[in-house]
Amino acid sequence: MQKNDFHADHVPAILQGSGLFKGVDVASIDSELQDSRVQRIEPGHILLDPKHINTAIYIVLHGELLVCLEPKIAHPLLRLGVGDCVGELSIIDASAPSAYVVAAVATHLLVISKPVLWRMLALQQVMALNLLHVLAHRIRENNTVLLGSLELQRQYRSKAETDTLTGLHNRAWFEEVFPKQLELCERTGQQVSLLMVDIDHFKKVNDAYGHTCGDEALRHMGNLLRRNLRSTDLCARYGGEEMIVLMPGTELMHAHLTAERLRESVASTPLCLEDGREMVIQVSGGIAQWQPGTALNDLIRSADQALYKAKESGRNRIEIQALPPGMDLS
Ligand code: GH3
Ligand code: MG
Ligand code: MG
Repeated sequence: MQKNDFHADHVPAILQGSGLFKGVDVASIDSELQDSRVQRIEPGHILLDPKHINTAIYIVLHGELLVCLEPKIAHPLLRLGVGDCVGELSIIDASAPSAYVVAAVATHLLVISKPVLWRMLALQQVMALNLLHVLAHRIRENNTVLLGSLELQRQYRSKAETDTLTGLHNRAWFEEVFPKQLELCERTGQQVSLLMVDIDHFKKVNDAYGHTCGDEALRHMGNLLRRNLRSTDLCARYGGEEMIVLMPGTELMHAHLTAERLRESVASTPLCLEDGREMVIQVSGGIAQWQPGTALNDLIRSADQALYKAKESGRNRIEIQALPPGMDLS
């Protein structure tokens, strides 16, 4: 048969090569085949869709079908060629198909209605086994598609939550995650501290070394944060040259020690630039301890006030929020 040809006489030969009819004595189901019909559909024709119950199984005799999530032929999940069948899942569970099946090109199909299929299965039991194979294959294909789309979703999500410059989480991420973490701490009675860190005189850094080196300094800062924080600390780029760190299970004094260690590490770890120069940056930080019932915004405001104090007091230092009367850090 020519590639672009289709003739009804070819049906038995095509069926012999089809998974559903493998090993089937086609002559013995001749009357069932007579009760089936050949249908031609044009490119773009929607054969199956999730809004309509399907009542037949379709064997591709010529042409190609696409299984798609949308009623158009872009981005198909699967391609079905000559000998493949479709519709088997939805006629077995009498439900609407879970995806669209669309003709990629002019396609000829053998349409076998549900009652005729049942008669065929009764006459040729090997067909029942074949049908199980087809179903198993289809389930595995669907699983592969599902796993692929979950992985894609994970990648999109990770991209949407990551700051591309520093590789730290971004604002959208912390706005979603931090309130949940505070809720968890409220339920478990854990202490939490929040640290805001800001690079000192970063504008001057940009002016002196150029914006590209400024970007490099932000990446450097991201690396130092990762190196100096615990795996349970949640860190994100708050905006510009300011980072935010939520430390669950950490009260003010320990958060202060961690922040001091980070400040010291930034000040004593020069960044080696491509041209051989070394750039030293410094940071200031402000810490606040969360109290049950305090909203994230109020906690951020307290840490920000402490950061402001650190800047006012000369920079390259960490300040803590004003302590309630009777609370002493020493
Ligand atoms: P302070 O010590 O008071 O924080 O002074 P500062 O100069 O760091 O603060 P200011 O808010 O005046 O300036 C922040 C600078 O950070 C200005 C802005 O151009 C720079 N900046 C913000 N985001 C980026 C970035 O993604 N890359 C670079 N290279 N610079 C950035
Ligand atoms: Mg700054
Ligand atoms: Mg700033």
